[in-house]
Amino acid sequence: MKCLNQLYEGKAKKVFCTDDPEVYLVRYKDDATAGNGAKKGTIRGKGAINNLVTNHLMKMLETKGIPTHFIEQLSDRETLVKKVEIIPLEVIVRNVAAGSLAKRLGMEEGTKLSHTVLEYCYKDDALGDPMVNEYHIAALGAATPDELQQIADYSFKINEILTEYLKEVNIELIDFKLEFGRDSNGKVILADEISPDTCRFWDTRTHAHLDKDLFRRDLGGEEEAYQEVKKRILGE
Ligand code: UDP
Repeated sequence: MKCLNQLYEGKAKKVFCTDDPEVYLVRYKDDATAGNGAKKGTIRGKGAINNLVTNHLMKMLETKGIPTHFIEQLSDRETLVKKVEIIPLEVIVRNVAAGSLAKRLGMEEGTKLSHTVLEYCYKDDALGDPMVNEYHIAALGAATPDELQQIADYSFKINEILTEYLKEVNIELIDFKLEFGRDSNGKVILADEISPDTCRFWDTRTHAHLDKDLFRRDLGGEEEAYQEVKKRILGE
């Protein structure tokens, strides 16, 4: 693989170009941040776990009709993905009240939501990723109405598929964040990652946190929890 110029370094991943203009290489890091970068640290082994978990789930989603950016895993930490133009939205899907929703609506964390909740945040670190609605999104030109409809349809479908899939390994999917991109044909496809960094995973029986909340809230045990998620999802 020639041409490994770094294009971008994010909080948890680096992105490189490859000799194919339609293909990027993603390298996952162990760096962890919370509170929009206010808290910094590392979770040993996280990069490899998030890479393997994301690829496993994206491959599974592809078999169920969700187009994703996944191409090929190169190593524990490195994956080839389709080049996309990231749509600057964080799409949050919620089944159970937790985190910022529990706080904002005064609901006790762990309360089952009678309807699945979809939220959008505008991806802008300087603004602290503010929550936006479909009117803001149109006014910002972040996505067209058709793209947003596609994003919502995919997000609900992904939620159904993942919830069922994770139930089998005793993980309750509380909430999660997705990002989508436009491929070279302008088609909306799933991008970024699906991992304990971007999802709240609770043990079905004990409700123990198996995700980044252990780090965010200084609860400890995050390395073991990430390993446990990998073991349950990849079965190894
Ligand atoms: N999330 C994420 N990146 C963000 C914000 C949220 O991956 O920048 C995920 C988070 O892991 C959780 C869901 O989105 O699974 C909902 O997060 P919430 O809005 O409750 O924010 P938090 O409480 O994490 O600040």
